[in-house]
Amino acid sequence: MKIASSRRIIGSNAERTRLHNRQVVLGQIRERQPIGRAEIARSSGLSTQAVSNIIAELESDGFLIEAGRQSAGRGLPVLQYRLNANGAAALGIEVRPDAMFGALVNLAGETLFTTREVLTANDPVTVATTARNIRAAALAGRCEGSRKILGAGVVMPGPFGKVGISGAGQTALHGWEESDPVSLFENALDMAVVVENDATAAAVAERVRGVAMGLRTFCFIYFGAGLGLGVVADGDTQRGAFGNAGEIGHVVVAPGGRLCACGNRGCLETYASRIAVRAKLAAAGIEIGSATDIEKLYRAKDAHLMSWIDEAAAPLSQAIGMIENLFDPETVILGGAMPDAVLDHLIASLDLPGGSVAARAGRISPRVQRGACGRLTAALGGAALVIHDTVTPRIAAKT
Ligand SMILES: [Zn+2]
Repeated sequence: MKIASSRRIIGSNAERTRLHNRQVVLGQIRERQPIGRAEIARSSGLSTQAVSNIIAELESDGFLIEAGRQSAGRGLPVLQYRLNANGAAALGIEVRPDAMFGALVNLAGETLFTTREVLTANDPVTVATTARNIRAAALAGRCEGSRKILGAGVVMPGPFGKVGISGAGQTALHGWEESDPVSLFENALDMAVVVENDATAAAVAERVRGVAMGLRTFCFIYFGAGLGLGVVADGDTQRGAFGNAGEIGHVVVAPGGRLCACGNRGCLETYASRIAVRAKLAAAGIEIGSATDIEKLYRAKDAHLMSWIDEAAAPLSQAIGMIENLFDPETVILGGAMPDAVLDHLIASLDLPGGSVAARAGRISPRVQRGACGRLTAALGGAALVIHDTVTPRIAAKT
């Protein structure tokens, strides 16, 4: 599949500036609510008049509500504002080779609805139909609470486009080589759509409402179809030139090691991923379908699963050391379609290299931690991406 530009930029310079300023004001309110106009102006560098205009606009759009008055020394108490959590919502959809997940999230990042649909095929037509069903289920009877649907964030496993590791075995979606997923989903869902890879979306979900709240630079290792890396640097997601940054699963950690579906030997994905655990268990005659199956085996202390954790820990530790030295993150988060207990055990089994820029005194966040958003993290992340970008030109273009 190809994503020419999932982040469209439209409009004149003046229009872009106006929308950017709206985003700045919303961001200030979101982080520091309740807050008054003068304080927003002071901290954003916008004039009080500009802030007043934007607030009037946001209030009439239903994004803000008044939150009483607060005394600020001399003069009249100052009118305060806060986000109107249910003034708008966004849809998040994650497409995996064998299932789709849907989530509806409000302006405050609270989850209003979630669903899981099994996929028997993952061609564009089937996926578009399932997406339409998820939209219908998510929005049924919710028009009152959520006045506005801002758009949808659709999350799919990379890589995007025909590259050296396209169609790498069971991690791939089939029949998407010639599709443009953005227009496919915009037609299916009848709303503005942003398409992102699963690891990046998961990272954004953790920043909006998980363990990365308040962090500006961090990495997220995502156990999805394969193994992905989401990187947030100074508040921005890192996409690469073609949307394929972070294919950590195909980084070689054992030269001459296990054969990977991409053709390399010794890829991280052949040791630490759902593919790896599935292969390990299949060799012992145990078939697994979902993360719930893995959870049951873990509770039963299955010897093959425990031995997989042991085998995965060293290559994963090596990769994390590499990630730390490359990106200098505040923390590395592990999450995705793997049970919490297994991730916790895996994290406890890591032997992180001492030769890393992250090995330093006075750390605030741990070097590695588990994400808080659970298995729906990427679907939530899709919605979070839209919430995050609420008033960017891309979303505004369709509303
Ligand atoms: Zn590979």
